[in-house]
Amino acid sequence: MHELSIAHSIMSIAERSLPAGSDGIITGVNIQVGELSGIETEALLFAFSAIKSGTVLEAAELCLDIIPGEARCTDCETVFPLHSFGTACPKCQGYLLNILRGKELKVLSLTVEEPEPAPRN
Ligand SMILES: [Zn+2]
Repeated sequence: MHELSIAHSIMSIAERSLPAGSDGIITGVNIQVGELSGIETEALLFAFSAIKSGTVLEAAELCLDIIPGEARCTDCETVFPLHSFGTACPKCQGYLLNILRGKELKVLSLTVEEPEPAPRN
């Protein structure tokens, strides 16, 4: 399953991003997913929740920021929203497209909560 390996990559990025020796608890992983990235968001959320127990991400929610697809026709320069591959240019019906955005997959940030400071005596 494709999404499972993506979930593992997200986890290793998050583990590396947490400063060594930090007591912070990761409560959120914010990622960008393009509409054309081929990722099933439901499957990714499921895979993430399946592998996070017992890791630094045990308390973390995966927050998806979906980037809509957009393409420019190489024939007539029309820029239009592209929701899936194999779509023709709405103006000239051409299939030669430059994908402008929508293939993103990246970890943007982590939400880390610092624990309550230990009381000093
Ligand atoms: Zn066109």
